[in-house]
Amino acid sequence: MRRYRYRCTVCRTTSPVVHQIHDLAAEGEAHRQTMHGGHFPDDEAAGRIDRLGRWYTTLTPLVALHAHLADALSDLRDPKAMGHYWWASAGATLTLGSAAALALTFISAAL
Ligand SMILES: [Zn+2]
Repeated sequence: MRRYRYRCTVCRTTSPVVHQIHDLAAEGEAHRQTMHGGHFPDDEAAGRIDRLGRWYTTLTPLVALHAHLADALSDLRDPKAMGHYWWASAGATLTLGSAAALALTFISAAL
């Protein structure tokens, strides 16, 4: 389940979470029409967020990968909710750690 938000930095407001990309476009368009007469506010932001409400584009690659894994694991339990379950976050960390250890093992065996 994907999650999106629209943020207007002029009004300092953020839209509720929506699950469809066309709903995100509608949120932005409705805000621009009602608050700014159809003009585009400077530095407005819109995009996909993780279950903790962070924009994926602001995360470092490793943190974004962890967020994707934890989101996918948490969506198994409740696809509509926000937040990570502790076991999903731990599972994502364990998966990334195992992959790093496996890669390190292959590299050291090849040398
Ligand atoms: Zn605004």
